[in-house]
Amino acid sequence: MYNATGEPPLEMNGTADAASSFELPLSLDAALPYLNPWNLSVVHWLVGFVLIRGAIAFYDNLVEFLIRFSKVPKLPTREDAATGEPKEVYFKGLDRISFVYLVINAADEWIFVQNLTHFIWHSDAVPKTLGGLNPLNTAAALYLMFLVLDFFYAPAHRFLHWGPVYPYIHKHHHRQRFPVRGYLDAGNEHPVEHVIGVSCTWMAVWTAVAVTGAHAATIFFFFNIHAALAMLNHSEFDVDVTVLGLNYSVKAHEMHHRFYNTNYAQYWLGMDKLMGTFDPYTAENTRPSRGLAKARAAAAARATESGKKVQ
Ligand SMILES: [Zn+2]
Ligand SMILES: [Zn+2]
Repeated sequence: MYNATGEPPLEMNGTADAASSFELPLSLDAALPYLNPWNLSVVHWLVGFVLIRGAIAFYDNLVEFLIRFSKVPKLPTREDAATGEPKEVYFKGLDRISFVYLVINAADEWIFVQNLTHFIWHSDAVPKTLGGLNPLNTAAALYLMFLVLDFFYAPAHRFLHWGPVYPYIHKHHHRQRFPVRGYLDAGNEHPVEHVIGVSCTWMAVWTAVAVTGAHAATIFFFFNIHAALAMLNHSEFDVDVTVLGLNYSVKAHEMHHRFYNTNYAQYWLGMDKLMGTFDPYTAENTRPSRGLAKARAAAAARATESGKKVQ
Protein backbone atom coordinates (compact mmCIF):
# COMPACT_ATOMS: atom_id res chain seq x y z
CA MET A 1 0.00 0.00 0.00
CA TYR A 2 3.00 2.35 0.57
CA ASN A 3 5.16 3.63 -2.33
CA ALA A 4 8.92 3.47 -2.61
CA THR A 5 9.45 6.65 -0.60
CA GLY A 6 7.45 5.27 2.34
CA GLU A 7 4.73 7.85 1.84
CA PRO A 8 1.12 6.69 1.80
CA PRO A 9 -0.52 6.94 -1.62
CA LEU A 10 -2.45 10.13 -2.40
CA GLU A 11 -5.88 8.53 -2.09
CA MET A 12 -5.02 7.31 1.40
CA ASN A 13 -3.77 10.77 2.35
CA GLY A 14 -7.05 12.20 1.13
CA THR A 15 -9.00 9.72 3.23
CA ALA A 16 -6.95 10.53 6.33
CA ASP A 17 -7.55 14.29 5.88
CA ALA A 18 -11.25 13.75 5.43
CA ALA A 19 -11.34 11.58 8.56
CA SER A 20 -9.50 14.15 10.66
CA SER A 21 -11.82 16.94 9.55
CA PHE A 22 -14.95 14.85 10.23
CA GLU A 23 -17.07 16.23 13.08
CA LEU A 24 -19.94 14.66 14.88
CA PRO A 25 -23.15 16.61 14.28
CA LEU A 26 -23.69 16.67 18.07
CA SER A 27 -20.46 18.38 19.12
CA LEU A 28 -20.14 20.26 22.43
CA ASP A 29 -19.97 23.54 20.45
CA ALA A 30 -23.35 22.82 18.88
CA ALA A 31 -24.87 21.78 22.23
CA LEU A 32 -23.45 24.69 24.25
CA PRO A 33 -26.22 27.21 23.37
CA TYR A 34 -28.71 24.72 24.88
CA LEU A 35 -26.58 23.67 27.87
CA ASN A 36 -25.72 27.26 28.78
CA PRO A 37 -28.15 29.62 26.98
CA TRP A 38 -27.36 32.61 29.27
CA ASN A 39 -23.64 32.22 28.55
CA LEU A 40 -22.77 31.88 32.25
CA SER A 41 -19.23 31.28 33.45
CA VAL A 42 -18.54 27.79 34.86
CA VAL A 43 -18.65 29.19 38.43
CA HIS A 44 -21.95 31.03 37.85
CA TRP A 45 -23.43 27.96 36.14
CA LEU A 46 -22.52 25.81 39.17
CA VAL A 47 -23.72 28.43 41.69
CA GLY A 48 -27.04 28.59 39.78
CA PHE A 49 -27.27 24.80 39.89
CA VAL A 50 -26.79 24.77 43.69
CA LEU A 51 -29.26 27.64 44.21
CA ILE A 52 -31.98 26.02 42.08
CA ARG A 53 -31.45 22.75 44.00
CA GLY A 54 -31.93 24.62 47.27
CA ALA A 55 -35.03 26.37 45.92
CA ILE A 56 -36.58 23.07 44.77
CA ALA A 57 -35.81 21.37 48.11
CA PHE A 58 -37.41 24.31 49.96
CA TYR A 59 -40.42 24.25 47.62
CA ASP A 60 -40.82 20.47 48.05
CA ASN A 61 -40.88 20.84 51.85
CA LEU A 62 -43.19 23.86 51.69
CA VAL A 63 -45.72 21.96 49.55
CA GLU A 64 -45.60 18.98 51.92
CA PHE A 65 -45.99 21.28 54.95
CA LEU A 66 -49.05 22.99 53.40
CA ILE A 67 -50.64 19.65 52.56
CA ARG A 68 -50.06 18.33 56.11
CA PHE A 69 -51.28 21.65 57.55
CA SER A 70 -54.47 21.36 55.44
CA LYS A 71 -55.09 17.94 57.06
CA VAL A 72 -55.40 16.21 53.68
CA PRO A 73 -56.07 12.51 54.39
CA LYS A 74 -53.54 9.84 53.45
CA LEU A 75 -54.10 7.33 50.67
CA PRO A 76 -56.28 4.32 51.59
CA THR A 77 -53.25 2.01 51.23
CA ARG A 78 -51.32 4.04 53.82
CA GLU A 79 -53.88 4.71 56.51
CA ASP A 80 -57.09 3.15 57.79
CA ALA A 81 -59.73 5.82 57.08
CA ALA A 82 -61.91 4.72 60.02
CA THR A 83 -59.28 4.34 62.76
CA GLY A 84 -56.43 6.52 61.40
CA GLU A 85 -54.06 3.56 61.96
CA PRO A 86 -51.05 3.66 59.61
CA LYS A 87 -50.67 0.74 57.20
CA GLU A 88 -47.35 -0.86 56.31
CA VAL A 89 -46.48 -0.85 52.61
CA TYR A 90 -43.51 -2.09 50.61
CA PHE A 91 -40.63 0.41 50.77
CA LYS A 92 -37.36 0.42 48.89
CA GLY A 93 -34.41 2.68 49.72
CA LEU A 94 -32.44 4.68 47.16
CA ASP A 95 -29.49 2.76 45.68
CA ARG A 96 -26.31 4.17 44.12
CA ILE A 97 -27.75 4.38 40.59
CA SER A 98 -30.74 6.30 42.01
CA PHE A 99 -28.37 9.00 43.32
CA VAL A 100 -26.52 9.11 39.98
CA TYR A 101 -29.83 9.55 38.11
CA LEU A 102 -31.03 12.20 40.59
CA VAL A 103 -27.87 14.28 40.05
CA ILE A 104 -28.04 13.97 36.23
CA ASN A 105 -31.75 14.86 36.26
CA ALA A 106 -31.11 17.81 38.57
CA ALA A 107 -28.62 19.16 36.01
CA ASP A 108 -31.20 18.56 33.26
CA GLU A 109 -33.78 20.51 35.30
CA TRP A 110 -31.36 23.43 35.73
CA ILE A 111 -30.68 23.44 31.97
CA PHE A 112 -34.43 23.37 31.34
CA VAL A 113 -35.02 26.32 33.70
CA GLN A 114 -32.31 28.32 31.91
CA ASN A 115 -33.78 27.57 28.48
CA LEU A 116 -37.31 28.34 29.65
CA THR A 117 -36.33 31.71 31.17
CA HIS A 118 -34.19 32.51 28.09
CA PHE A 119 -37.13 31.72 25.80
CA ILE A 120 -39.56 33.81 27.88
CA TRP A 121 -37.15 36.77 28.02
CA HIS A 122 -36.30 36.82 24.30
CA SER A 123 -39.54 35.72 22.65
CA ASP A 124 -41.71 38.55 21.26
CA ALA A 125 -44.65 36.09 21.29
CA VAL A 126 -44.61 35.98 25.13
CA PRO A 127 -46.14 39.12 26.76
CA LYS A 128 -44.32 40.15 29.92
CA THR A 129 -46.07 43.32 31.09
CA LEU A 130 -48.91 43.57 33.62
CA GLY A 131 -51.07 45.23 30.99
CA GLY A 132 -50.52 42.27 28.66
CA LEU A 133 -52.56 39.91 30.90
CA ASN A 134 -55.92 38.71 29.56
CA PRO A 135 -58.18 35.64 30.09
CA LEU A 136 -56.92 33.92 26.93
CA ASN A 137 -53.21 34.10 27.76
CA THR A 138 -53.74 33.17 31.45
CA ALA A 139 -56.64 30.80 32.30
CA ALA A 140 -57.09 29.34 28.78
CA ALA A 141 -53.31 29.09 28.26
CA LEU A 142 -52.87 27.25 31.59
CA TYR A 143 -55.67 24.82 30.76
CA LEU A 144 -54.18 24.17 27.30
CA MET A 145 -50.72 23.54 28.76
CA PHE A 146 -51.98 20.74 31.02
CA LEU A 147 -53.99 19.18 28.16
CA VAL A 148 -51.09 19.30 25.71
CA LEU A 149 -48.63 18.00 28.30
CA ASP A 150 -50.62 14.78 28.74
CA PHE A 151 -51.47 14.57 25.06
CA PHE A 152 -47.75 13.88 24.54
CA TYR A 153 -46.79 12.48 27.95
CA ALA A 154 -49.42 9.72 28.35
CA PRO A 155 -48.58 7.91 25.04
CA ALA A 156 -44.82 8.45 25.62
CA HIS A 157 -45.19 6.95 29.12
CA ARG A 158 -47.12 4.03 27.63
CA PHE A 159 -44.34 3.50 25.07
CA LEU A 160 -41.81 3.32 27.92
CA HIS A 161 -43.87 0.41 29.31
CA TRP A 162 -43.62 -1.50 26.01
CA GLY A 163 -41.96 -4.89 26.74
CA PRO A 164 -38.76 -4.52 24.63
CA VAL A 165 -38.12 -0.97 25.96
CA TYR A 166 -39.33 -1.15 29.59
CA PRO A 167 -36.34 -2.90 31.25
CA TYR A 168 -33.81 -0.41 29.85
CA ILE A 169 -35.39 2.94 30.78
CA HIS A 170 -38.59 3.12 32.82
CA LYS A 171 -38.22 0.06 35.06
CA HIS A 172 -36.02 2.03 37.47
CA HIS A 173 -38.81 4.52 38.26
CA HIS A 174 -41.06 1.60 39.25
CA ARG A 175 -38.65 0.35 41.96
CA GLN A 176 -40.94 2.17 44.37
CA ARG A 177 -44.35 0.48 44.28
CA PHE A 178 -45.72 2.86 46.92
CA PRO A 179 -44.04 6.25 46.31
CA VAL A 180 -43.68 8.36 49.44
CA ARG A 181 -40.61 10.62 49.13
CA GLY A 182 -42.11 13.33 46.87
CA TYR A 183 -39.37 14.87 44.75
CA LEU A 184 -36.91 12.02 45.37
CA ASP A 185 -39.38 9.41 44.06
CA ALA A 186 -40.58 11.66 41.22
CA GLY A 187 -37.09 12.55 39.97
CA ASN A 188 -35.70 9.04 40.46
CA GLU A 189 -35.94 7.98 36.83
CA HIS A 190 -33.62 7.18 33.94
CA PRO A 191 -32.19 10.41 32.41
CA VAL A 192 -33.64 9.48 28.99
CA GLU A 193 -37.08 9.38 30.56
CA HIS A 194 -36.41 12.70 32.25
CA VAL A 195 -35.54 14.29 28.88
CA ILE A 196 -38.79 12.87 27.44
CA GLY A 197 -40.77 14.40 30.34
CA VAL A 198 -39.07 17.79 29.93
CA SER A 199 -39.71 17.68 26.16
CA CYS A 200 -43.42 17.15 26.80
CA THR A 201 -43.36 20.21 29.09
CA TRP A 202 -41.70 22.19 26.29
CA MET A 203 -44.39 21.07 23.84
CA ALA A 204 -47.04 22.28 26.30
CA VAL A 205 -45.41 25.73 26.63
CA TRP A 206 -44.76 26.15 22.89
CA THR A 207 -48.30 25.16 21.96
CA ALA A 208 -49.85 27.53 24.50
CA VAL A 209 -47.64 30.39 23.28
CA ALA A 210 -48.50 29.65 19.63
CA VAL A 211 -52.25 29.27 20.21
CA THR A 212 -53.02 31.71 23.03
CA GLY A 213 -49.91 33.93 23.26
CA ALA A 214 -49.37 32.62 26.81
CA HIS A 215 -48.17 35.31 29.25
CA ALA A 216 -44.78 34.95 31.00
CA ALA A 217 -46.57 34.87 34.39
CA THR A 218 -48.79 31.98 33.17
CA ILE A 219 -45.76 29.95 32.05
CA PHE A 220 -44.05 30.61 35.40
CA PHE A 221 -47.23 29.61 37.28
CA PHE A 222 -47.65 26.46 35.14
CA PHE A 223 -44.07 25.39 35.76
CA ASN A 224 -44.46 25.79 39.54
CA ILE A 225 -47.80 23.98 39.68
CA HIS A 226 -46.44 21.19 37.46
CA ALA A 227 -43.39 20.80 39.75
CA ALA A 228 -45.56 20.74 42.91
CA LEU A 229 -48.01 18.21 41.45
CA ALA A 230 -45.22 15.94 40.16
CA MET A 231 -43.82 15.83 43.72
CA LEU A 232 -47.25 15.25 45.29
CA ASN A 233 -47.97 12.43 42.82
CA HIS A 234 -45.20 10.56 44.61
CA SER A 235 -46.39 11.29 48.14
CA GLU A 236 -48.74 9.49 50.53
CA PHE A 237 -51.39 12.25 50.43
CA ASP A 238 -54.78 11.75 48.85
CA VAL A 239 -54.95 14.88 46.69
CA ASP A 240 -57.66 14.55 44.05
CA VAL A 241 -58.80 17.51 41.95
CA THR A 242 -61.04 17.65 38.87
CA VAL A 243 -61.39 20.90 36.90
CA LEU A 244 -63.25 21.06 33.57
CA GLY A 245 -62.29 17.55 32.49
CA LEU A 246 -58.73 17.70 33.82
CA ASN A 247 -58.17 15.30 36.71
CA TYR A 248 -55.21 15.19 38.99
CA SER A 249 -55.25 12.23 41.33
CA VAL A 250 -52.44 10.89 43.50
CA LYS A 251 -54.52 7.70 43.79
CA ALA A 252 -54.40 7.29 39.99
CA HIS A 253 -50.60 7.53 39.95
CA GLU A 254 -50.32 5.18 42.92
CA MET A 255 -52.44 2.71 40.90
CA HIS A 256 -49.92 3.13 38.07
CA HIS A 257 -46.98 2.34 40.37
CA ARG A 258 -48.77 -0.70 41.77
CA PHE A 259 -50.24 -2.17 38.59
CA TYR A 260 -47.89 -0.73 35.90
CA ASN A 261 -50.00 -0.85 32.71
CA THR A 262 -52.72 1.55 33.79
CA ASN A 263 -53.31 5.30 34.34
CA TYR A 264 -50.37 6.65 32.33
CA ALA A 265 -51.58 10.28 32.34
CA GLN A 266 -50.85 12.86 35.04
CA TYR A 267 -53.46 15.58 34.58
CA TRP A 268 -55.83 14.45 31.88
CA LEU A 269 -56.99 10.90 32.61
CA GLY A 270 -59.18 11.27 29.50
CA MET A 271 -56.05 10.19 27.59
CA ASP A 272 -56.18 6.86 29.46
CA LYS A 273 -59.88 6.53 28.76
CA LEU A 274 -59.10 7.09 25.05
CA MET A 275 -56.29 4.52 25.14
CA GLY A 276 -58.40 2.03 27.15
CA THR A 277 -55.87 2.03 30.01
CA PHE A 278 -57.87 3.80 32.73
CA ASP A 279 -58.63 2.06 36.01
CA PRO A 280 -60.64 3.48 38.90
CA TYR A 281 -58.96 3.38 42.29
CA THR A 282 -58.86 0.35 44.51
CA ALA A 283 -56.89 -0.35 47.67
CA GLU A 284 -57.19 -4.09 46.87
CA ASN A 285 -54.42 -6.06 45.19
CA THR A 286 -56.26 -6.65 41.92
CA ARG A 287 -56.46 -4.12 39.13
CA PRO A 288 -60.20 -3.44 38.67
CA SER A 289 -60.27 -3.92 34.89
CA ARG A 290 -58.28 -7.17 35.25
CA GLY A 291 -60.59 -8.22 38.10
CA LEU A 292 -63.56 -7.50 35.89
CA ALA A 293 -62.03 -9.49 33.04
CA LYS A 294 -61.35 -12.38 35.43
CA ALA A 295 -64.90 -12.23 36.82
CA ARG A 296 -66.35 -12.28 33.29
CA ALA A 297 -64.11 -15.20 32.28
CA ALA A 298 -65.12 -17.12 35.43
CA ALA A 299 -68.82 -16.40 34.76
CA ALA A 300 -68.43 -17.60 31.14
CA ALA A 301 -66.63 -20.75 32.36
CA ARG A 302 -69.42 -21.41 34.90
CA ALA A 303 -72.06 -20.92 32.18
CA THR A 304 -70.24 -23.37 29.87
CA GLU A 305 -69.86 -25.84 32.73
CA SER A 306 -73.56 -25.72 33.67
CA GLY A 307 -74.43 -26.01 29.96
CA LYS A 308 -72.40 -29.24 29.77
CA LYS A 309 -74.12 -30.63 32.89
CA VAL A 310 -77.56 -29.93 31.41
CA GLN A 311 -76.59 -31.84 28.26
ZN1 LIG B 1 -44.23 7.88 39.09
ZN1 LIG C 1 -44.75 4.03 34.48
